[in-house]
Amino acid sequence: MFLRRLYSTSLRTVSESNARRWAAIKNAKPISHFLTDNYNRKHDYLRISITERCNLRCMYCMPEEGVPLQPDSQILSTDEIIQIAKMFVSQGVKKIRLTGGEPTVRKDILEIMDRLNQIEGLKEICITSNGIALHRKLPKLAQSGLTSLNLSLDTLVEGKFTLITRRNGLKNVMKSLETALQLGIPKVKLNIVVVKGLNDDEIMNFVKLAQFYPLEVRFIEYMPFDGNKWELEKVMNYQDIIKLIRETHPTIERVAHKHGETSKTYQIPGFKGKLGFITSMTDDFCKDCTRLRITSDGNLKVCLFGNDEVSLRDLIRSNVDEDEILQVIGKTVKNKKEKHAGLDELPKMANRPMILIGG
Ligand code: SAM
Ligand code: SF4
Repeated sequence: MFLRRLYSTSLRTVSESNARRWAAIKNAKPISHFLTDNYNRKHDYLRISITERCNLRCMYCMPEEGVPLQPDSQILSTDEIIQIAKMFVSQGVKKIRLTGGEPTVRKDILEIMDRLNQIEGLKEICITSNGIALHRKLPKLAQSGLTSLNLSLDTLVEGKFTLITRRNGLKNVMKSLETALQLGIPKVKLNIVVVKGLNDDEIMNFVKLAQFYPLEVRFIEYMPFDGNKWELEKVMNYQDIIKLIRETHPTIERVAHKHGETSKTYQIPGFKGKLGFITSMTDDFCKDCTRLRITSDGNLKVCLFGNDEVSLRDLIRSNVDEDEILQVIGKTVKNKKEKHAGLDELPKMANRPMILIGG
């Protein structure tokens, strides 16, 4: 197995930084009413997209011709990102994920991480990355308190990688995975968007990774977004994936669900890692959704599949008082719908392409 040697070299370089973080958790604030919606969902998880740019062109995420990019002046600055993060943490957010686009293409990613790490009460700092330009930055990110890395990887076959991402770079992604495991980043997850006829033949190879490595291999149902040529026939239902895995591993079992978790977690006795399923298309997790999103141009988006957005960037740039901004946030969160649209309506709805939302 190509990553097996990692076990003997596993280092725990991140433990010191995490110790500081765990100490800070004691000061975490309870969720304020501004972040509680009409269905009593308490939003303690904020995903911040820090760029619209990406060094890949994944076919399920964006149209081949790319997406129109906004001028840099429209994108949140480092200070604005930190201001927004602080505002949400002061209201009870405990987990922040940096995403994009590809977060590692942003030149100030290390500064952003460092400054997030200093926010008292923030329990988890996570990044979702395609791993192309990540491995060299990982040691510094780990030192700055990175608690969780989601790495996107849909195939272990080089030619198919080029087909899916319209670019090369599988070796870089593997290097990032190897480095993350070596560094002992507390949570490492692999995100695999399963597209029927494209990579469903590799499901069992990914399952093998969870057998030998301490990571969570997560299969994601293919979702429709503007310009991604989604078709219902290409969606592989998570239950079919579990059925397939059960043929080889009949002992696969569900792990107790944790509140706020959007993935269904499974384990197979004897495996070092776990398996997860993100079932947005066939079994939504709206009831348990505790996440809010900030787009890279500074809009608060309360649902991945909703178009209700409000610009926090404009409020900040107009020097609106923070208390007033919180009122706006509170109103927007209160308006969050109980559930997102279903399989029949979603494909017809207009929405930003995924690259402009942030996964
Ligand atoms: N560039 C980073 C990456 O790829 O990890 C972060 C941004 S990307 C938009 C975040 C996540 O969204 C990735 O794991 C990607 O696989 C997932 N994603 C993108 N388009 C998707 C789609 N149509 N259906 C399901 N997941 C999708
Ligand atoms: Fe880029 Fe991530 Fe979208 Fe792929 S999934 S195009 S890596 S933003």
